[in-house]
Amino acid sequence: MSFIEFHDLTHCYNQGQENEYMAICGVNLSIEQGSFTVILGRNGSGKSTLAKHINGLLLPTSGVCLVDGRDTQDMDDLWAIRRQVGMVFQNPDNQLIAAVVEDDVAFGPENLGIAPQEIRSRVDEALKAVGMEKYKSFAPHLLSGGQKQRIAIAGALAMRTRCLVLDEPTAMLDPQGREEVLNTVRRLHDEQGITIVYITHFMEEAVAADRIVVMDQGRIQAEGTPREIFCEVEAMKAGGLDVPLAAELAWRLRREGMKLPGQIMTDEELVQALEAYGCPLS
Ligand code: ADP
Ligand code: MG
Repeated sequence: MSFIEFHDLTHCYNQGQENEYMAICGVNLSIEQGSFTVILGRNGSGKSTLAKHINGLLLPTSGVCLVDGRDTQDMDDLWAIRRQVGMVFQNPDNQLIAAVVEDDVAFGPENLGIAPQEIRSRVDEALKAVGMEKYKSFAPHLLSGGQKQRIAIAGALAMRTRCLVLDEPTAMLDPQGREEVLNTVRRLHDEQGITIVYITHFMEEAVAADRIVVMDQGRIQAEGTPREIFCEVEAMKAGGLDVPLAAELAWRLRREGMKLPGQIMTDEELVQALEAYGCPLS
C-alpha cells in the first residue's frame, strides 16, 4: 500500500514574479508504506522542495501530494499529516530547542496535550529506540552531531510518527556520526516498519535503501533498486552523480578487460569477485 503519492506535482517558487522558478516539474511517484527510499540528485535538482511537500511545509503549485490518503492541501488534515511525518534536516544545531535532551524529545507530545505520564513513557521509549537513553538529562550542546541528529529522530518518534523524511541528515557529520545516524534509521525501518525517505549525497548510504529515486532539474530521472541504479555507472556519471566506490572500481576494471560480474555494489562483493577472478587479496 502506498503511504505517499505525488500526482503530477509541480512547485513554482515566486510564481508570477520576475524570479519565478519551477523547482518541481510534474513528478509522479508513489512510496510504499514501510519502504526505505533514497532520493539522489545534484544540488538544485529539487530534492528538498519535494521532501517539504510530504509534511505540507510546501504546497503544490499544481498536482497533488497525498500522505496516507490525505491531501496536504486540505487544511483540516494538515496536523494529522504532520503528526505522521517527522522531518530531520541537515543542520543538527538548528533542530534542538530545549536545554535538556528529554525536554526536547517531549516538546512535540507536549504540544499535542498528551498526559505527562504518557509523555514520560514515550520519551523513554523514543530515546531507547535511537540508543540515547543514557543522555536523557544531558544538555544538547554537549552531544556530537550524530547524537544530536538521533535526538531529533527521537523527537519525531515521540510523536508516534509513521514516516521519517531526512534531508541530508549526515551532510554535516563525521564518518562515525554518519554511521550512527544511518544505522539508527535502518533499525527503525527494519524493526518498527517506519517508512523512510532519505536524501543523501553519500552513495554508500544509498546502498541501504529498498529503492532509489534520482532527480534532475525537478524531474525524476531514474528509479530502481540500488543495484539497478548503481550498475548504470555511465548514466550516473553523465548526470553528474557518483556511484559507490566498489561499483566504480568494478566498472573501471571491466573497462580494462577484467571479466567481473556486472552487479557489484559493495566492498565485500568487489573483494569476492576479485578473489574469484584469481587476485589474491590477503
Ligand atoms: P536540492 O535540495 O536538490 O538541492 P532544492 O529543492 O533546494 O534542491 O532547490 C531546487 C531549486 O529551487 C534550486 O534551483 C533552488 O535554487 C530553487 N529554490 C529553492 N528554494 C527556493 C526559494 N525559497 N525561493 C526560490 N527558489 C528556491
Ligand atoms: Mg536540498
